[in-house]
Amino acid sequence: MSDDVSYDDAIKISFDQANDYLKRMRCNRPCEACGYEDFKIETDGGDVAYIPIILAKDDNLGLLYMPVSCLRCGNTRFINAISMARTILGEHTGDEHGE
Ligand SMILES: [Zn+2]
Repeated sequence: MSDDVSYDDAIKISFDQANDYLKRMRCNRPCEACGYEDFKIETDGGDVAYIPIILAKDDNLGLLYMPVSCLRCGNTRFINAISMARTILGEHTGDEHGE
């Protein structure tokens, strides 16, 4: 497991960066619950409303998610914010993975 991206790094990812990431990763497919096509990134005062979830066996450890909700039925997808940040920040640091 790599800890190259911290919670502090991840929560700095902006709404625009996150929205662009979802489009590029083609995460914006129709709702699997109701078929509606519009989803929204949940926000708090314009910032992405990241949600930490602690692990039951160790509350010092946890995961960080970005909720994305269907505008019609409320079905919510959770994007792993650390993975997203790793991709976004990796692109900006010139990290070389080849393609
Ligand atoms: Zn839906």
